Amino acid sequence: MGFEERTLQCLECGVDFVFSAEEQELFASRGYTNDPKRCPSCRQARKAQRYGNDGYDYRPRRQMFQAVCAQCGKDCEVPFQPREGRPVYCSDCYNAIRTNR
Ligand SMILES: [Zn+2]
Ligand SMILES: [Zn+2]
Repeated sequence: MGFEERTLQCLECGVDFVFSAEEQELFASRGYTNDPKRCPSCRQARKAQRYGNDGYDYRPRRQMFQAVCAQCGKDCEVPFQPREGRPVYCSDCYNAIRTNR
């Protein structure tokens, strides 16, 4: 599929800006189907002002850490940095332990 550079008008300040082929590709790869409504500088300003909301370039992505479950030895991913000497459990074991206590 080919992307062609396009010129769009900013909703906020009315300035024309270029929606480059690379950006379109990036948008498509993130699953966004809408064109950006604002020029890059307005986007920046909005982002700085208030995080998120109208969102296409905001997607919370939790960093996951590789760990080995202390219970079953399975590889798993946890949303926090595993600490030395602190057991990490996969979600199955974690749930089992939690409901058992
Ligand atoms: Zn603008
Ligand atoms: Zn486990």
